[in-house]
Amino acid sequence: MKKRKVLITGASKGLGLAIANKLAPIYDLILHATNEGSFSSKIPDSNFLYADFSDQSQLEAFCKKLKKDHGDSLYGVINNAGITFDKPINYQPEIEIDTMLNVNLRAPIFICKTAMKIFQQNKTGVIINISSISGDGGNAFQSVYAATKAGLVALSKSLAQEAAALYDLHNIRVLSISPGFIESDMTGSLSQEVRDKYLSAIPSKRFGKPDDVANLVEFLLSENASYINGTNIQINGGLK
Ligand code: NAD
Repeated sequence: MKKRKVLITGASKGLGLAIANKLAPIYDLILHATNEGSFSSKIPDSNFLYADFSDQSQLEAFCKKLKKDHGDSLYGVINNAGITFDKPINYQPEIEIDTMLNVNLRAPIFICKTAMKIFQQNKTGVIINISSISGDGGNAFQSVYAATKAGLVALSKSLAQEAAALYDLHNIRVLSISPGFIESDMTGSLSQEVRDKYLSAIPSKRFGKPDDVANLVEFLLSENASYINGTNIQINGGLK
């Protein structure tokens, strides 16, 4: 039987790569990275799409190609690509603000727009937007990043309602996930002092692994999660 297709953005490393490895036996994957050189190794039999989401024209071309090449059997979209530049907003250059808005929020909005059109035709589909604990509770020195991540939660909840209201389609689900502190390049540059502070505040007494998030994504995409819709799922070891 033909496998259903799932797009994972930012799939070359970190959470995206773990999600790709987890889903590879189940789905026909469409793996996104900024460019071909980003992948240190490639998951065999996958489809690849490249785009720098800070560049509007690359995002536009990406969405067109997604619809043209994969529109017939696209079932899942994992908007995972994201970037942060941590600093007080007074010192945040405009280029960093724009990059976070474009990569973390504008790109997922346009990818969701493309996916919703495809799902409307196919009458089924699941979108999972990777938000962050910073989007839930805010975080000093991550104000713009946190704003983009909070935006993804609102986007997901709104689209879940829209699918039902506008198209009367009940097999389209839109969700977001808010990871806490997960070991990856994004958290790898934090000082030992900051890491110790986080660790002491996590009731599960460990940092999250990319696989923890990948397990959740696998479940949320599955039929077993068919009644989970329009909500944000936190995965943070109890960190508040
Ligand atoms: P990472 O830095 O390892 O990976 C980020 C991914 O985003 C990479 O694949 C990268 O290629 C892609 N990306 C960055 N800039 C891009 C651009 N301009 N165009 C296209 N793609 C771009 O980080 P990660 O920890 O794996 O993060 C994955 C997602 O999880 C991000 O959205 C991040 O905000 C979110 N998140 C991570 C944590 C954590 O603790 N690691 C916590 C909460 C949320």
